[in-house]
Amino acid sequence: MDVVETAEGCRALLDAARMAGRAVGLVPTMGALHEGHVSLISRARAECGTVAVSIFVNPLQFGDPDDIAHYPRTLEEDLRAGAEAGADVVFVPAVSEMYPSWPAPPATAVLVRGVSDVWEGASRPGHFDGVATVVAKLFSVAGPCRAYFGLKDFQQLAVVRRMAADLGLPVEIVGCPIVRETDGLARSSRNVRLSPAERGAATVLWRALTAGRAAVGGGARTGTEVTAAMRAVVATEPSVALDYVVAVNAATLEEIDVVDDPAALRLLIAAVVGPVRLIDNSPATDALVASETAPAHATSPVARPPVGPVRPRQLERIG
Ligand code: AMP
Repeated sequence: MDVVETAEGCRALLDAARMAGRAVGLVPTMGALHEGHVSLISRARAECGTVAVSIFVNPLQFGDPDDIAHYPRTLEEDLRAGAEAGADVVFVPAVSEMYPSWPAPPATAVLVRGVSDVWEGASRPGHFDGVATVVAKLFSVAGPCRAYFGLKDFQQLAVVRRMAADLGLPVEIVGCPIVRETDGLARSSRNVRLSPAERGAATVLWRALTAGRAAVGGGARTGTEVTAAMRAVVATEPSVALDYVVAVNAATLEEIDVVDDPAALRLLIAAVVGPVRLIDNSPATDALVASETAPAHATSPVARPPVGPVRPRQLERIG
């Protein structure tokens, strides 16, 4: 596994892979890798000849200085996890590599209008501009590839798909199932910041999504009825501050008034639990949840050499 810190070095490795006839799979991450990330890397491993993982805590997409200051950074463990999951290349750029003018932001940004403006975009102004800009840069470094993103960040996936389509980028976007703890909590790098009590309360996001699906299954006819069922569950955890809960058209992310086609719906939720803001989402039917459940992808069938000690560069701290 090659660990590269420069865009030039990463591009050279992936160009060489394509020249050798191997399809490139890219898994963009912010590190603190968990089973959700590993599922993406495993999927890329199963589908591509060369797998690249990027680890970059992108300062452009954080509005809250406390969030980026406390974002977990575990590079040494991440490199082990990446190697075990079958990554061939790990791209670990410094902030100065991605944004030479930092702390002045780059003059050029990618804005994906419409889909970036609602829900997460409304709660975190500028967030998706930062996401779209960094993902465009990562696609530019990686070159033609398949890029793997989690359905966990449902709106982010929509933003990235739209950007790739609008800009005609030579990247196939692959959406991957949400990996959850056994009690339903979606895996997230931020979960490590939860106290045991907060960790228990955090399951309310999944419980609310489950109640939303039950409402749809029970014949709820309006988005308001569905979200009322979800709100009632969140209200049972007074320590959890709900940001939004909504039933949207899965393709457009527009709020729906009438439940006419449950298969076309997506339930979205965001809430603050203790020090962190958590998001989750679900299809509106149990059958679709089952069909999205992460398959157990075998990691690479190719035996990989054991990973020796790694010397993580001191990652720059922002904020
Ligand atoms: P992050 O490091 O949080 O930026 O996430 C990197 C990628 O992993 C994104 O495409 C996320 O959607 C995806 N991801 C994060 N958590 C999960 C999860 N629990 N299940 C599946 N994918 C995930």
